[in-house]
Amino acid sequence: MRQVISISVGEIVLKGKNRKNFENALINKIKRALKNLEIESVYKEIGKIFIEVKNHQDIDEAISIVKNVFGIVYISKCFRVDKDLKKAEEAIRAAIADQKIKDDFSFKIIASRADKNFPLTSPEINRHFGGFVLKNYPGAKVDVHEPEYPIYVDIRQYIYVYIGRQKGLGGMPMGTNGKGLVLLSGGIDSPVAAFMMARRGIGINAIHFHTYPYTSERSEKKVLDLAEIVSRYTGPMKVYSVNILEINRTIAQNCYENNMTILSRRMMMRIAERISKINDYDGLITGDNLGQVASQTIKSLKVIDRATDMLVFRPLISFDKQQIIDISEEIGALETSNLPFDDCCTIFAPKHPNLNPKLDQILKEEEKYDIEGLIERALETIKITKID
Ligand code: ATP
Ligand code: MG
Repeated sequence: MRQVISISVGEIVLKGKNRKNFENALINKIKRALKNLEIESVYKEIGKIFIEVKNHQDIDEAISIVKNVFGIVYISKCFRVDKDLKKAEEAIRAAIADQKIKDDFSFKIIASRADKNFPLTSPEINRHFGGFVLKNYPGAKVDVHEPEYPIYVDIRQYIYVYIGRQKGLGGMPMGTNGKGLVLLSGGIDSPVAAFMMARRGIGINAIHFHTYPYTSERSEKKVLDLAEIVSRYTGPMKVYSVNILEINRTIAQNCYENNMTILSRRMMMRIAERISKINDYDGLITGDNLGQVASQTIKSLKVIDRATDMLVFRPLISFDKQQIIDISEEIGALETSNLPFDDCCTIFAPKHPNLNPKLDQILKEEEKYDIEGLIERALETIKITKID
């Protein structure tokens, strides 16, 4: 008998001809995530991927690591035996012992038979093992609707027995949907936005704008910490830090104060676009959320959008703040996002931001400074941090 991890891949089995590519991408991500543990093999059987860990005592750690990999719907710890009913009964004993189940418990056998040549049908398998559990565990009773312990008997090339299953993150394996550049501030929203897009298979890199020395080194560190948290799900990423002090100062000196945020945000989009085009990133990602702040009214977003011809993803656009906070907490970013360090935008924030900017007025404002020169000098300040 061997303990293995089983992974249900859900959505990716639907991908027709692409299925193989998706499964292979997922297997690569799993192997990479487990690089510090000794893995015997990772193999696939229809609709599932199995992981054999060399040492059984590593299995719980392996499960907690693999749970962060996108593309997984369910994950379970299995007891694997050859296709033999007596051996499968032993696997059921082992699975029950592993759960430290109390004497009185309800259960249900859930058979599935990927191997259609197996001599028993699914109802017969349910009856066989149901009878086995009732006979050997006097406190056990069957509850087909809400069993405390659903006991899965999965008949394939081997028989896999497991009790319960944990939910994975879902989504698609990283990198199967191109590459994106997230505009990462120190706030709650942008790390969540990066996570949401990564879940759909987009590889993530990040750009952060600061106004050092107006913003502190500590606030820089906070952004890198957030990038590190995001990278636990996305894998290695590059973080570009760009100083936009000259840009914000120039805008502040030459333009109407109430247009500050819009003008600054348009410069951020342009710089992000430059970096994306050099590095072949397919889209920009922001944490914008409709109506949350002045720069996120529909009119402001429209004017900001016109600064770039890139595809801009705003995955949080329709979320309520509480939903965003909940995801931030789930992915382990909330505490860091809540640390009180100044963002470049708070320092230059206008008292009465323009909620209803008009593109022609904004274009007139932009005639007051040398956009190209400012972008070039900002690009000279780039620092790249590699997170892996
Ligand atoms: P967040 O919580 O992500 O900071 P927010 O609610 O504070 O968002 P804004 O400050 O209006 O909203 O920023 C909207 C989006 O613009 C951010 O989610 C982020 O993608 C981008 N952004 C804002 N400031 C910066 C910055 N200093 N560096 C990089 N991106 C930024
Ligand atoms: Mg912010």
